[in-house]
Amino acid sequence: MTNLVIPAPQVPTIPTSDGGAFPVRRVYCIGRNYAAHAIEMGHDPDREPPFFFQKNPNNMDASGEFPYPPHTSDVHHEVELVVALKSGGTNIPLDKALDHVWGYAVSLDMTRRDLQGEAKKMGRPWEIGKAFEQSGPVGPLLPVSKVGHPDHGRIELKVNGEVRQEGDLNQMIWKVPEMISYLSEYFELAPGDIIMSGTPSGVNAVVKGDLMEATIEGLGGLTVKVV
Ligand code: MN
Repeated sequence: MTNLVIPAPQVPTIPTSDGGAFPVRRVYCIGRNYAAHAIEMGHDPDREPPFFFQKNPNNMDASGEFPYPPHTSDVHHEVELVVALKSGGTNIPLDKALDHVWGYAVSLDMTRRDLQGEAKKMGRPWEIGKAFEQSGPVGPLLPVSKVGHPDHGRIELKVNGEVRQEGDLNQMIWKVPEMISYLSEYFELAPGDIIMSGTPSGVNAVVKGDLMEATIEGLGGLTVKVV
């Protein structure tokens, strides 16, 4: 590129299990994708159309540390499966959706729940609660060639050794192919897009010094210290 008037920002990346780096273009996050979590947030778990919000690509962070963010006193953990796309398009049919997946990872959708709650009440967007610095701790991406397409298996989050969240990937209301196909009807998906696929019940607050250990069966773990 020529004539950039400021230095180009670096492309955010997620490390891969084989020592590579996956460049991130967009981060789509689904809301209320496990019935038990929808209920704990005060909503009907029936299968209504899915809804999505976005984090910023450079919110994804593999440092293993989560700096307690400003202007909140209620930061929640949400353990989630990340789906990383190697290709995209529009109107992707369900039976072709998984062909676009490069791999999977364990992640945390860290949430300023107090600010998100205010935004909901006032009918405002969620970014202030969801899309802040280092709000997307993420583990190494594992390629489909190694782990296939996990559609069941335990998903869990411990804080300081105590289980806070647990569920099974098979409890997702909207499955991975459905999320890809649905998103592609509204957006043009492309290589580098990732989807955070929702959290099981048990979301709760962390404080400085807490150690979060997220695991998904078959995908290993992610350990993040709140600093
Ligand atoms: Mn979430």
